[in-house]
Amino acid sequence: MPHNNARYVPSWFRSRVPALLLGALLWQHGQAQVLVENATLITEQEGVEAPFTGYMLAGADGLITAIGPGAYAGQLPSGTQRVDASGKFVIPGFVSGHNHLWQSAFRGIALDKVLQPWLDALHRTYGQFFANDDFYWFTLHGALDQLLHGITTTYSHSQRLDANEEQYLGSMKAEMEVGQHFIFSYNNDTKLKPAAMDLAFDAFMKKANANIALPGSMMLGAAINAVGNFSPDDTLAREMALAKKYKVGVQIHYLEQFSTGEADRAQWQSMKAKGALTPTTTFAHFIQTTDAILKDTAAAGAGMIWNPLSNGRLASGLSDIPKYRAMGVKVGMGVDGAASGDISDPFENMRMGMYALRMQHHDPAIMSAEQILRLHTLDTAKVLGIGNKVGSLEQGKLADFLILDPGSPLTGGVFNPVAHLVASMNAMNIEAIYVAGKLQVQNGKVLGKDTKAVQGEVVKRVASIVAAQKKAAKK
Ligand SMILES: [Zn+2]
Repeated sequence: MPHNNARYVPSWFRSRVPALLLGALLWQHGQAQVLVENATLITEQEGVEAPFTGYMLAGADGLITAIGPGAYAGQLPSGTQRVDASGKFVIPGFVSGHNHLWQSAFRGIALDKVLQPWLDALHRTYGQFFANDDFYWFTLHGALDQLLHGITTTYSHSQRLDANEEQYLGSMKAEMEVGQHFIFSYNNDTKLKPAAMDLAFDAFMKKANANIALPGSMMLGAAINAVGNFSPDDTLAREMALAKKYKVGVQIHYLEQFSTGEADRAQWQSMKAKGALTPTTTFAHFIQTTDAILKDTAAAGAGMIWNPLSNGRLASGLSDIPKYRAMGVKVGMGVDGAASGDISDPFENMRMGMYALRMQHHDPAIMSAEQILRLHTLDTAKVLGIGNKVGSLEQGKLADFLILDPGSPLTGGVFNPVAHLVASMNAMNIEAIYVAGKLQVQNGKVLGKDTKAVQGEVVKRVASIVAAQKKAAKK
Protein backbone atom coordinates (compact mmCIF):
# COMPACT_ATOMS: atom_id res chain seq x y z
CA MET A 1 0.00 0.00 0.00
CA PRO A 2 1.64 3.26 -1.04
CA HIS A 3 1.76 6.01 1.52
CA ASN A 4 0.17 8.70 -0.67
CA ASN A 5 -3.04 8.35 1.31
CA ALA A 6 -5.85 10.84 1.73
CA ARG A 7 -4.05 12.96 4.30
CA TYR A 8 -1.61 14.04 1.65
CA VAL A 9 -4.19 14.80 -1.03
CA PRO A 10 -3.82 18.55 -1.66
CA SER A 11 -6.91 20.64 -0.99
CA TRP A 12 -7.30 21.76 -4.63
CA PHE A 13 -7.53 18.12 -5.60
CA ARG A 14 -9.88 17.22 -2.77
CA SER A 15 -12.30 20.01 -3.67
CA ARG A 16 -12.47 18.99 -7.33
CA VAL A 17 -12.69 15.25 -7.00
CA PRO A 18 -16.15 13.89 -6.34
CA ALA A 19 -16.43 12.09 -3.01
CA LEU A 20 -17.26 8.86 -4.76
CA LEU A 21 -14.00 8.87 -6.71
CA LEU A 22 -11.99 9.68 -3.58
CA GLY A 23 -13.78 6.83 -1.82
CA ALA A 24 -12.75 4.52 -4.63
CA LEU A 25 -9.14 5.70 -4.35
CA LEU A 26 -9.14 5.01 -0.62
CA TRP A 27 -10.72 1.65 -1.20
CA GLN A 28 -7.93 0.82 -3.62
CA HIS A 29 -5.45 1.59 -0.88
CA GLY A 30 -7.17 -0.95 1.33
CA GLN A 31 -9.07 1.15 3.84
CA ALA A 32 -10.56 4.50 4.66
CA GLN A 33 -9.67 6.65 7.63
CA VAL A 34 -11.49 5.87 10.86
CA LEU A 35 -12.50 8.41 13.49
CA VAL A 36 -13.53 6.97 16.84
CA GLU A 37 -15.47 9.56 18.84
CA ASN A 38 -16.80 10.04 22.39
CA ALA A 39 -14.74 7.10 23.65
CA THR A 40 -13.36 6.55 27.13
CA LEU A 41 -9.74 6.34 26.03
CA ILE A 42 -7.28 4.28 28.04
CA THR A 43 -4.22 5.02 25.94
CA GLU A 44 -1.36 3.38 27.91
CA GLN A 45 0.80 6.25 26.67
CA GLU A 46 3.44 6.97 29.30
CA GLY A 47 2.63 10.20 31.08
CA VAL A 48 -1.06 10.04 30.10
CA GLU A 49 -2.18 7.93 33.02
CA ALA A 50 -5.79 9.08 33.48
CA PRO A 51 -8.44 7.84 31.06
CA PHE A 52 -10.27 10.63 29.23
CA THR A 53 -13.23 11.09 26.91
CA GLY A 54 -12.11 11.92 23.42
CA TYR A 55 -11.36 10.88 19.86
CA MET A 56 -8.82 8.94 17.90
CA LEU A 57 -8.21 9.21 14.18
CA ALA A 58 -6.56 6.37 12.29
CA GLY A 59 -5.14 7.16 8.87
CA ALA A 60 -5.44 5.09 5.73
CA ASP A 61 -1.78 4.18 6.30
CA GLY A 62 -2.82 2.24 9.42
CA LEU A 63 -1.22 4.69 11.84
CA ILE A 64 -2.78 6.89 14.51
CA THR A 65 -3.02 10.38 13.02
CA ALA A 66 -4.52 12.21 15.98
CA ILE A 67 -5.76 11.43 19.48
CA GLY A 68 -7.01 13.70 22.22
CA PRO A 69 -9.76 14.79 24.59
CA GLY A 70 -13.06 16.27 23.43
CA ALA A 71 -14.12 16.36 19.79
CA TYR A 72 -11.85 16.20 16.76
CA ALA A 73 -11.52 19.73 15.42
CA GLY A 74 -9.59 19.03 12.21
CA GLN A 75 -11.01 18.54 8.73
CA LEU A 76 -12.00 15.04 7.77
CA PRO A 77 -11.49 13.81 4.22
CA SER A 78 -14.64 12.39 2.68
CA GLY A 79 -14.79 8.66 3.03
CA THR A 80 -13.77 8.84 6.70
CA GLN A 81 -15.70 6.31 8.71
CA ARG A 82 -17.03 7.72 12.00
CA VAL A 83 -17.53 5.38 14.94
CA ASP A 84 -19.50 6.64 17.94
CA ALA A 85 -17.99 4.97 21.03
CA SER A 86 -20.13 6.74 23.66
CA GLY A 87 -20.08 4.77 26.91
CA LYS A 88 -17.40 2.45 25.54
CA PHE A 89 -13.73 1.95 26.34
CA VAL A 90 -11.03 2.16 23.71
CA ILE A 91 -7.74 0.51 24.66
CA PRO A 92 -4.63 -0.60 22.75
CA GLY A 93 -4.70 -4.18 21.50
CA PHE A 94 -3.03 -6.62 23.88
CA VAL A 95 0.52 -7.78 23.22
CA SER A 96 1.43 -11.37 24.09
CA GLY A 97 5.16 -11.96 24.46
CA HIS A 98 5.37 -15.76 24.46
CA ASN A 99 3.20 -18.06 22.34
CA HIS A 100 3.24 -21.43 20.61
CA LEU A 101 0.30 -20.86 18.30
CA TRP A 102 0.14 -24.43 16.92
CA GLN A 103 -0.72 -25.69 20.42
CA SER A 104 -4.18 -24.22 19.93
CA ALA A 105 -5.18 -27.63 18.53
CA PHE A 106 -4.16 -29.50 21.73
CA ARG A 107 -5.98 -27.85 24.63
CA GLY A 108 -6.71 -29.51 27.93
CA ILE A 109 -4.06 -32.15 27.24
CA ALA A 110 -2.22 -33.77 30.22
CA LEU A 111 -3.92 -31.42 32.67
CA ASP A 112 -2.54 -33.43 35.60
CA LYS A 113 1.11 -33.05 34.57
CA VAL A 114 4.01 -30.66 35.20
CA LEU A 115 6.21 -29.45 32.33
CA GLN A 116 8.37 -32.47 31.44
CA PRO A 117 5.64 -35.18 31.52
CA TRP A 118 3.36 -32.69 29.76
CA LEU A 119 6.01 -32.35 27.01
CA ASP A 120 6.13 -36.16 26.87
CA ALA A 121 2.36 -36.30 26.44
CA LEU A 122 2.26 -33.68 23.69
CA HIS A 123 5.50 -32.92 21.80
CA ARG A 124 7.13 -36.32 22.25
CA THR A 125 3.92 -38.29 21.64
CA TYR A 126 2.35 -36.49 18.68
CA GLY A 127 5.13 -34.28 17.26
CA GLN A 128 6.51 -36.92 14.90
CA PHE A 129 3.08 -37.48 13.30
CA PHE A 130 2.54 -33.93 12.05
CA ALA A 131 2.00 -33.99 8.30
CA ASN A 132 1.48 -31.77 5.30
CA ASP A 133 -0.04 -28.46 6.30
CA ASP A 134 -0.70 -29.22 9.98
CA PHE A 135 1.51 -26.39 11.23
CA TYR A 136 -0.25 -24.01 8.87
CA TRP A 137 -3.75 -24.95 10.06
CA PHE A 138 -2.90 -25.22 13.75
CA THR A 139 -1.13 -21.85 13.74
CA LEU A 140 -4.01 -20.25 11.82
CA HIS A 141 -6.38 -21.62 14.50
CA GLY A 142 -4.24 -20.29 17.35
CA ALA A 143 -3.66 -16.86 15.86
CA LEU A 144 -7.34 -16.35 14.94
CA ASP A 145 -8.35 -17.29 18.46
CA GLN A 146 -5.81 -14.91 19.99
CA LEU A 147 -7.10 -12.12 17.75
CA LEU A 148 -10.69 -12.84 18.86
CA HIS A 149 -9.54 -12.42 22.46
CA GLY A 150 -8.00 -9.02 21.77
CA ILE A 151 -4.35 -9.92 21.16
CA THR A 152 -3.35 -7.75 18.21
CA THR A 153 0.39 -8.45 18.47
CA THR A 154 1.83 -11.87 19.21
CA TYR A 155 5.37 -13.17 19.61
CA SER A 156 5.26 -16.48 17.78
CA HIS A 157 7.79 -18.66 19.57
CA SER A 158 7.51 -21.28 16.87
CA GLN A 159 8.56 -24.91 17.22
CA ARG A 160 9.49 -27.28 14.43
CA LEU A 161 9.03 -30.62 16.22
CA ASP A 162 9.92 -33.18 13.51
CA ALA A 163 8.55 -31.29 10.52
CA ASN A 164 10.58 -30.49 7.44
CA GLU A 165 11.43 -26.85 6.72
CA GLU A 166 8.49 -26.23 4.38
CA GLN A 167 5.92 -27.78 6.73
CA TYR A 168 7.39 -25.94 9.70
CA LEU A 169 7.32 -22.58 7.91
CA GLY A 170 3.60 -23.11 7.33
CA SER A 171 3.44 -21.41 10.75
CA MET A 172 4.79 -18.14 9.33
CA LYS A 173 2.59 -18.46 6.23
CA ALA A 174 -0.52 -18.79 8.41
CA GLU A 175 0.32 -15.75 10.48
CA MET A 176 0.76 -13.61 7.38
CA GLU A 177 -2.91 -14.31 6.58
CA VAL A 178 -4.54 -13.67 9.96
CA GLY A 179 -4.56 -9.88 10.33
CA GLN A 180 -2.66 -9.90 13.63
CA HIS A 181 0.75 -8.26 14.04
CA PHE A 182 3.50 -10.70 14.93
CA ILE A 183 7.18 -11.35 15.44
CA PHE A 184 8.26 -14.75 14.16
CA SER A 185 10.76 -16.44 16.45
CA TYR A 186 12.58 -19.07 14.38
CA ASN A 187 13.47 -22.45 15.83
CA ASN A 188 16.77 -23.51 14.22
CA ASP A 189 17.09 -27.14 13.25
CA THR A 190 19.84 -27.89 15.75
CA LYS A 191 20.24 -31.42 14.39
CA LEU A 192 21.90 -29.93 11.32
CA LYS A 193 25.68 -29.52 11.10
CA PRO A 194 26.76 -25.96 12.06
CA ALA A 195 27.31 -24.73 8.49
CA ALA A 196 23.99 -26.15 7.32
CA MET A 197 22.18 -24.59 10.27
CA ASP A 198 23.66 -21.19 9.39
CA LEU A 199 22.62 -21.58 5.75
CA ALA A 200 19.07 -22.55 6.73
CA PHE A 201 18.87 -19.50 8.99
CA ASP A 202 20.08 -17.25 6.21
CA ALA A 203 17.39 -18.66 3.90
CA PHE A 204 14.79 -18.06 6.61
CA MET A 205 15.92 -14.46 7.11
CA LYS A 206 15.55 -13.80 3.37
CA LYS A 207 11.94 -15.02 3.52
CA ALA A 208 11.30 -13.14 6.76
CA ASN A 209 12.71 -9.86 5.41
CA ALA A 210 10.62 -10.21 2.25
CA ASN A 211 7.51 -10.64 4.42
CA ILE A 212 8.41 -7.71 6.67
CA ALA A 213 9.00 -5.46 3.64
CA LEU A 214 5.53 -6.04 2.17
CA PRO A 215 3.41 -2.88 2.31
CA GLY A 216 1.20 -2.93 5.40
CA SER A 217 2.83 -6.21 6.49
CA MET A 218 1.54 -7.85 9.65
CA MET A 219 5.06 -9.16 10.33
CA LEU A 220 6.91 -6.72 12.58
CA GLY A 221 10.12 -8.66 12.96
CA ALA A 222 12.05 -11.90 13.18
CA ALA A 223 13.78 -13.47 16.17
CA ILE A 224 15.36 -16.71 17.34
CA ASN A 225 13.79 -19.31 19.60
CA ALA A 226 17.12 -20.41 21.08
CA VAL A 227 17.13 -23.95 22.43
CA GLY A 228 20.89 -24.51 22.87
CA ASN A 229 20.70 -24.14 26.65
CA PHE A 230 19.28 -27.68 26.68
CA SER A 231 22.47 -29.15 25.18
CA PRO A 232 26.01 -29.08 26.59
CA ASP A 233 27.67 -28.31 23.23
CA ASP A 234 28.14 -24.92 21.55
CA THR A 235 24.63 -24.72 20.01
CA LEU A 236 23.59 -21.78 22.20
CA ALA A 237 26.75 -19.86 21.34
CA ARG A 238 26.04 -20.40 17.64
CA GLU A 239 22.43 -19.28 18.03
CA MET A 240 23.57 -16.12 19.85
CA ALA A 241 26.14 -15.47 17.11
CA LEU A 242 23.39 -15.70 14.46
CA ALA A 243 21.22 -13.28 16.44
CA LYS A 244 24.10 -10.81 16.59
CA LYS A 245 24.96 -11.17 12.90
CA TYR A 246 21.37 -10.67 11.73
CA LYS A 247 20.50 -8.15 14.49
CA VAL A 248 17.48 -10.06 15.81
CA GLY A 249 16.32 -10.78 19.35
CA VAL A 250 16.41 -14.11 21.13
CA GLN A 251 13.94 -15.78 23.45
CA ILE A 252 14.90 -18.74 25.63
CA HIS A 253 12.73 -21.06 27.73
CA TYR A 254 14.37 -21.03 31.11
CA LEU A 255 13.71 -21.84 34.77
CA GLU A 256 10.17 -23.09 34.24
CA GLN A 257 9.66 -26.42 36.02
CA PHE A 258 9.95 -26.31 39.81
CA SER A 259 11.49 -29.73 40.45
CA THR A 260 14.36 -29.20 37.98
CA GLY A 261 15.15 -25.72 39.28
CA GLU A 262 18.51 -26.62 40.73
CA ALA A 263 19.75 -28.39 37.61
CA ASP A 264 18.46 -25.56 35.42
CA ARG A 265 20.14 -22.91 37.56
CA ALA A 266 23.41 -24.80 37.18
CA GLN A 267 23.33 -23.86 33.45
CA TRP A 268 23.49 -20.15 34.21
CA GLN A 269 27.26 -19.62 34.14
CA SER A 270 27.58 -21.58 30.92
CA MET A 271 24.69 -19.66 29.34
CA LYS A 272 26.39 -16.40 30.26
CA ALA A 273 29.68 -17.63 28.82
CA LYS A 274 27.89 -18.52 25.56
CA GLY A 275 26.66 -14.94 25.23
CA ALA A 276 23.01 -15.50 26.16
CA LEU A 277 22.70 -12.24 28.08
CA THR A 278 22.02 -9.35 25.73
CA PRO A 279 19.64 -6.36 25.76
CA THR A 280 17.44 -8.18 23.22
CA THR A 281 17.31 -11.49 25.11
CA THR A 282 14.09 -12.49 26.87
CA PHE A 283 13.61 -15.51 29.09
CA ALA A 284 10.23 -17.22 28.93
CA HIS A 285 8.87 -18.16 32.38
CA PHE A 286 12.03 -17.47 34.43
CA ILE A 287 10.43 -18.57 37.68
CA GLN A 288 13.07 -20.51 39.65
CA THR A 289 15.53 -17.61 39.76
CA THR A 290 18.00 -16.40 42.39
CA ASP A 291 18.97 -12.84 43.25
CA ALA A 292 22.30 -13.37 41.48
CA ILE A 293 20.53 -14.44 38.27
CA LEU A 294 18.16 -11.46 38.46
CA LYS A 295 21.08 -9.11 39.04
CA ASP A 296 22.95 -10.44 35.99
CA THR A 297 19.80 -10.18 33.89
CA ALA A 298 19.11 -6.59 34.90
CA ALA A 299 22.74 -5.58 34.35
CA ALA A 300 22.62 -6.97 30.80
CA GLY A 301 19.35 -5.17 30.04
CA ALA A 302 17.67 -8.51 29.32
CA GLY A 303 14.03 -9.24 30.09
CA MET A 304 11.52 -11.93 30.83
CA ILE A 305 8.04 -12.93 29.78
CA TRP A 306 5.62 -13.86 32.54
CA ASN A 307 2.92 -16.41 31.66
CA PRO A 308 0.62 -16.67 34.70
CA LEU A 309 -2.06 -18.95 33.16
CA SER A 310 0.47 -21.48 31.90
CA ASN A 311 2.61 -21.28 35.05
CA GLY A 312 -0.46 -21.97 37.17
CA ARG A 313 -1.74 -24.79 34.99
CA LEU A 314 1.62 -26.61 34.93
CA ALA A 315 2.14 -25.95 38.66
CA SER A 316 5.43 -24.28 37.71
CA GLY A 317 5.23 -21.50 40.28
CA LEU A 318 4.88 -17.76 40.59
CA SER A 319 7.58 -15.31 39.56
CA ASP A 320 7.89 -12.52 42.09
CA ILE A 321 7.25 -9.84 39.46
CA PRO A 322 7.34 -6.79 41.77
CA LYS A 323 10.76 -7.89 42.99
CA TYR A 324 12.02 -8.54 39.44
CA ARG A 325 10.96 -5.06 38.43
CA ALA A 326 12.44 -3.48 41.54
CA MET A 327 15.73 -5.16 40.63
CA GLY A 328 15.58 -3.72 37.10
CA VAL A 329 14.53 -6.77 35.08
CA LYS A 330 12.31 -5.83 32.12
CA VAL A 331 9.01 -7.73 32.30
CA GLY A 332 6.37 -8.53 29.70
CA MET A 333 3.45 -10.95 29.66
CA GLY A 334 2.32 -13.82 27.48
CA VAL A 335 -0.56 -16.28 27.28
CA ASP A 336 1.86 -19.05 26.15
CA GLY A 337 0.70 -21.91 23.94
CA ALA A 338 -2.91 -22.99 24.32
CA ALA A 339 -1.88 -26.52 25.30
CA SER A 340 -0.70 -25.10 28.63
CA GLY A 341 -2.55 -21.76 28.74
CA ASP A 342 -5.65 -23.42 27.30
CA ILE A 343 -7.47 -20.14 26.77
CA SER A 344 -5.70 -17.42 24.79
CA ASP A 345 -7.27 -14.70 26.87
CA PRO A 346 -5.30 -11.72 28.16
CA PHE A 347 -8.17 -10.75 30.50
CA GLU A 348 -7.90 -14.14 32.25
CA ASN A 349 -4.12 -13.91 32.17
CA MET A 350 -4.09 -10.48 33.84
CA ARG A 351 -6.45 -11.58 36.60
CA MET A 352 -4.59 -14.84 37.17
CA GLY A 353 -1.28 -13.00 37.54
CA MET A 354 -2.54 -10.09 39.60
CA TYR A 355 -4.57 -12.25 41.97
CA ALA A 356 -1.82 -14.87 42.40
CA LEU A 357 0.58 -12.11 43.50
CA ARG A 358 -2.04 -10.70 45.87
CA MET A 359 -2.62 -14.17 47.37
CA GLN A 360 1.09 -14.68 47.82
CA HIS A 361 1.79 -11.28 49.36
CA HIS A 362 -1.53 -10.73 51.20
CA ASP A 363 -1.41 -7.23 49.79
CA PRO A 364 -3.66 -5.72 47.08
CA ALA A 365 -1.08 -2.98 46.51
CA ILE A 366 1.48 -5.52 45.29
CA MET A 367 -0.02 -5.29 41.76
CA SER A 368 -2.56 -2.68 40.66
CA ALA A 369 -5.01 -2.83 37.76
CA GLU A 370 -3.02 -0.06 36.07
CA GLN A 371 0.24 -2.02 36.38
CA ILE A 372 -1.14 -5.31 35.07
CA LEU A 373 -2.81 -3.65 32.07
CA ARG A 374 0.44 -1.82 31.26
CA LEU A 375 2.30 -5.13 31.54
CA HIS A 376 0.10 -6.83 28.93
CA THR A 377 0.31 -3.90 26.51
CA LEU A 378 3.15 -1.36 26.36
CA ASP A 379 5.57 -3.15 28.70
CA THR A 380 5.47 -6.33 26.61
CA ALA A 381 5.90 -4.34 23.41
CA LYS A 382 8.96 -2.64 24.92
CA VAL A 383 10.54 -5.90 26.09
CA LEU A 384 10.12 -7.25 22.56
CA GLY A 385 11.71 -4.13 21.04
CA ILE A 386 8.52 -2.93 19.30
CA GLY A 387 7.42 -0.34 21.85
CA ASN A 388 7.75 2.36 19.19
CA LYS A 389 5.12 0.63 17.02
CA VAL A 390 2.47 -0.97 19.24
CA GLY A 391 1.34 -1.28 22.87
CA SER A 392 -0.14 2.18 23.38
CA LEU A 393 -2.40 4.60 21.57
CA GLU A 394 -0.35 7.59 20.51
CA GLN A 395 0.21 9.55 17.36
CA GLY A 396 2.43 7.79 14.85
CA LYS A 397 1.94 4.31 16.26
CA LEU A 398 -0.03 1.53 14.58
CA ALA A 399 -3.77 1.91 15.12
CA ASP A 400 -4.25 -1.43 16.90
CA PHE A 401 -7.16 -1.02 19.30
CA LEU A 402 -10.18 -2.61 20.93
CA ILE A 403 -13.60 -1.08 21.48
CA LEU A 404 -15.04 -2.57 24.67
CA ASP A 405 -18.67 -2.31 25.73
CA PRO A 406 -19.12 -2.46 29.50
CA GLY A 407 -22.85 -2.92 28.88
CA SER A 408 -22.55 -6.18 26.96
CA PRO A 409 -22.27 -8.48 28.83
CA LEU A 410 -23.65 -6.36 31.70
CA THR A 411 -21.03 -5.05 34.11
CA GLY A 412 -22.73 -2.25 36.10
CA GLY A 413 -21.66 1.27 36.95
CA VAL A 414 -18.11 2.38 36.19
CA PHE A 415 -16.20 3.85 39.15
CA ASN A 416 -12.72 3.59 37.63
CA PRO A 417 -12.41 2.51 33.97
CA VAL A 418 -9.10 0.66 34.38
CA ALA A 419 -10.18 -1.18 37.55
CA HIS A 420 -13.48 -1.97 35.85
CA LEU A 421 -11.76 -3.31 32.77
CA VAL A 422 -9.24 -5.46 34.61
CA ALA A 423 -11.53 -6.84 37.30
CA SER A 424 -14.93 -7.20 35.67
CA MET A 425 -14.64 -7.41 31.91
CA ASN A 426 -13.65 -10.20 29.58
CA ALA A 427 -13.26 -10.97 25.89
CA MET A 428 -17.05 -11.07 25.51
CA ASN A 429 -17.07 -7.30 26.10
CA ILE A 430 -15.02 -6.76 22.94
CA GLU A 431 -17.29 -5.12 20.40
CA ALA A 432 -14.68 -4.44 17.74
CA ILE A 433 -10.98 -4.96 17.08
CA TYR A 434 -8.98 -2.83 14.67
CA VAL A 435 -5.49 -3.75 13.52
CA ALA A 436 -3.54 -1.06 11.66
CA GLY A 437 -6.76 0.92 11.46
CA LYS A 438 -8.67 -1.89 9.77
CA LEU A 439 -11.71 -3.51 11.35
CA GLN A 440 -10.78 -7.17 11.84
CA VAL A 441 -13.21 -8.43 14.48
CA GLN A 442 -16.80 -7.38 15.10
CA ASN A 443 -19.08 -8.86 17.77
CA GLY A 444 -17.06 -12.05 18.14
CA LYS A 445 -16.52 -12.70 14.44
CA VAL A 446 -13.25 -12.35 12.52
CA LEU A 447 -14.30 -10.55 9.35
CA GLY A 448 -13.58 -12.40 6.13
CA LYS A 449 -12.42 -15.58 7.90
CA ASP A 450 -14.44 -18.75 8.25
CA THR A 451 -13.36 -19.73 11.78
CA LYS A 452 -15.84 -22.64 11.88
CA ALA A 453 -14.18 -24.14 8.83
CA VAL A 454 -10.75 -23.70 10.46
CA GLN A 455 -12.04 -25.45 13.60
CA GLY A 456 -13.44 -28.31 11.47
CA GLU A 457 -10.17 -28.72 9.60
CA VAL A 458 -8.14 -28.70 12.84
CA VAL A 459 -10.35 -31.28 14.58
CA LYS A 460 -10.00 -33.55 11.54
CA ARG A 461 -6.22 -33.13 11.47
CA VAL A 462 -5.83 -33.78 15.21
CA ALA A 463 -7.87 -36.99 14.78
CA SER A 464 -5.49 -38.11 12.00
CA ILE A 465 -2.46 -37.44 14.19
CA VAL A 466 -3.97 -39.33 17.13
CA ALA A 467 -4.86 -42.26 14.83
CA ALA A 468 -1.35 -42.35 13.34
CA GLN A 469 0.19 -42.32 16.82
CA LYS A 470 -2.08 -45.18 18.00
CA LYS A 471 -1.26 -47.23 14.93
CA ALA A 472 2.47 -46.76 15.43
CA ALA A 473 2.22 -47.56 19.15
CA LYS A 474 0.63 -50.95 18.34
CA LYS A 475 3.58 -52.03 16.23
ZN1 LIG B 1 6.81 -21.86 25.89
